[in-house]
Amino acid sequence: MRYQTDSPSLASNYPQLRLEPLLRDEAEKRAPGQILFNHTVTGWEQQDRGGVHVSVVNNETDEGQTINARYVIAADGGKTVGPQVGVQMAGPTDMVDMVSVHFGADLSDYVDEATLIHWFLNPEGESSWDAGALVKMGPTWDNHSEEWTIHFMFRPDDPERFDETAIVPRVRDLLKLPDLELTVYKVSHWILDRVVATQWRFGDIFLAGDAAHRQPPTSGLGLNTGIQDAHALAWRLAAAVNGSAGEAVLDSYQTERIPVAIDGADWALLAFSNHAVIDAAIGLVPGAAVEANLVAFETLFGDSRIGGAIRARTADAIGTQRFEFQAHDIEMGYTYAEGSFVADGSTAPKSLDGTVYTPTTTPGRRVPHAWLEQDGEQVSTLDLVSDAWGFTLMTDTAGRAWAEAAAAAAESTGVPLIAHVVGDEHGPADTTGRWAEINELEAGGALLIRPDQIIAWRSQGPGQEPATELVAALKVVLTGA
Ligand SMILES: Cc1cc2nc3c(=O)[nH]c(=O)nc-3n(C[C@H](O)[C@H](O)[C@H](O)COP(=O)(O)OP(=O)(O)OC[C@H]3O[C@@H](n4cnc5c(N)ncnc54)[C@H](O)[C@@H]3O)c2cc1C
Repeated sequence: MRYQTDSPSLASNYPQLRLEPLLRDEAEKRAPGQILFNHTVTGWEQQDRGGVHVSVVNNETDEGQTINARYVIAADGGKTVGPQVGVQMAGPTDMVDMVSVHFGADLSDYVDEATLIHWFLNPEGESSWDAGALVKMGPTWDNHSEEWTIHFMFRPDDPERFDETAIVPRVRDLLKLPDLELTVYKVSHWILDRVVATQWRFGDIFLAGDAAHRQPPTSGLGLNTGIQDAHALAWRLAAAVNGSAGEAVLDSYQTERIPVAIDGADWALLAFSNHAVIDAAIGLVPGAAVEANLVAFETLFGDSRIGGAIRARTADAIGTQRFEFQAHDIEMGYTYAEGSFVADGSTAPKSLDGTVYTPTTTPGRRVPHAWLEQDGEQVSTLDLVSDAWGFTLMTDTAGRAWAEAAAAAAESTGVPLIAHVVGDEHGPADTTGRWAEINELEAGGALLIRPDQIIAWRSQGPGQEPATELVAALKVVLTGA
C-alpha cells in the first residue's frame, strides 16, 4: 500500500492535530535536541571510507545543512531513498485504488455503540470494498465518536477520484444518509500493493518500515512490522557503532526481516481478499447486475429456508475473517529461521491458520511474556530485557552459575550483560508459575536475550562451563563466527 495523494487543501478544516504534538514531545524527551522536525532530506552520498553525508533542508527557513552520519535508516515510506538506491520491490502492485476520508459528523443515531469498524455491503457495489468500511476515530469511542474515517474503493477510471467536491456527496451516498452534515478533514488516496524489497541494506543505508514492505492494511501488520524492523536494526547499529559487532550482524538484519515481511504481506493480502468470501456467501458476485444483487439481499433478509441457510453461510464466512482480526501468531509468533542467534535445532510451534500464538523460547523467537513480581510490582518478562544497548540473561536459582558467568562475560567481552535470577532473593518472583510453565527450561537452564527481545541462545539445562559457553554464544551472535 502506498499513498498517492493527500489533500493539503482540506487540512485547515481539522480543528486540532491531537496526536502529533504528543508524539513530538515524547520523541524530543527521548533524544533532546537530536531530532530535526519539519526538515526534508534532499540528498545523500555514501563515503568510500564508510558513513553517509546527508543533505537536509529546514522546511520553514529553507536553510540547508549536511549531516555526516555513520549509518542512515531510510524509513521514508519508500518515497525517496529506495528508488534512488535502486531498490527492487517484489510482488504485485497497483491492485486497487483506495480512498480514506477522515471526517467529522454525528452518526450516533446510526451506528452501534461498541463496534469499532462497520463494514457496509450494498447491492450497487460488487464487493464490500466498494461500499466501504467506517472506522471510529474518537476522541469519544462509543457511537458518539466525533470523528470517523471511511475507506472505500474508487474505480481507477472514475473521473471523480481526485475531485474533493465529489467526496461529500459520495460519503453521504455510501452511508445512505443524503442530509448528513459532515466536515471533511482529509482525503488520502492509497494504492494497494503487496511488495517487499529484495535487499534492505545498501552499504551504510538500511531500509525499514513501508520503505521495505508495503501491504494491504488488513490484519494491521504494516506499522507493526515496521516497528519490529526498527527494533531489529537499532541494537545492531548500536553494536556496530561501539565496535561490539561486525558486518555479519548488519547483514543479518535483512536475513531475519525479509522472510517475516513476506509472511506478513502475504497474510495481509489473504485477509484483504478474504472479504470476497463474505461477499460470495451473501451472494454478491463480481459483474452481477444490481437487480441480481437486490434479489440476493432480499433472500438474505427473507423468511425462506434458503434465506436462513444463506444467513448461516454468511455467519460462517464472517468467521473466516479471523485471519484479519485474530492473527496473533502472525503478529507475535514470527520466528527467524536464520540470523544473529544460536539455533538449537528446535522448531517453534506454528498455527496453520495464524490465530493461535504459542509461547516458546526457541532461539530466533521473541521472548514470551509472563507476569513476574519484582519489588512488589508486577513486571513482564519483556520488561526485564534491557532497553539500553546490552544483552539480558534469564535463569533460575539453580542456574546462579550462569549469572556469575554473565558478569564475567560482560567483563571480558565489554558487551553489557545483565542477569535476572528468577526466584532469587533480589530477583523477580514467578508467583503464578506461568514463567516456569512456558519457558521450556529445566532447573538451571538459561536464556540469553538480545536487546530487541529476541532469544539469542538458550541452554535448556545447567551448563558444563557456563562462562565459556556464554562467551562463545555472544561471539556467534555478534560476529557470526
Ligand atoms: C487505512 C490504513 C490502515 C492501517 N492500519 C494499520 C494498523 O492497524 N496497524 C498497522 O500496523 N499498520 C496499519 N497501517 C499501515 C501503516 O500506516 C504503515 O505501515 C506505516 O504508517 C508505515 O510507517 P513508516 O514510518 O514506515 O512510513 P510512513 O508512515 O509513510 O512515514 C514516512 C515518513 O517519512 C517522511 N519522508 C519521506 N521522504 C522524506 C524526506 N526526503 N525527508 C524527510 N522526511 C521524509 C514522510 O513525510 C512520512 O512522514 C494502515 C495503513 C492504512 C492506509
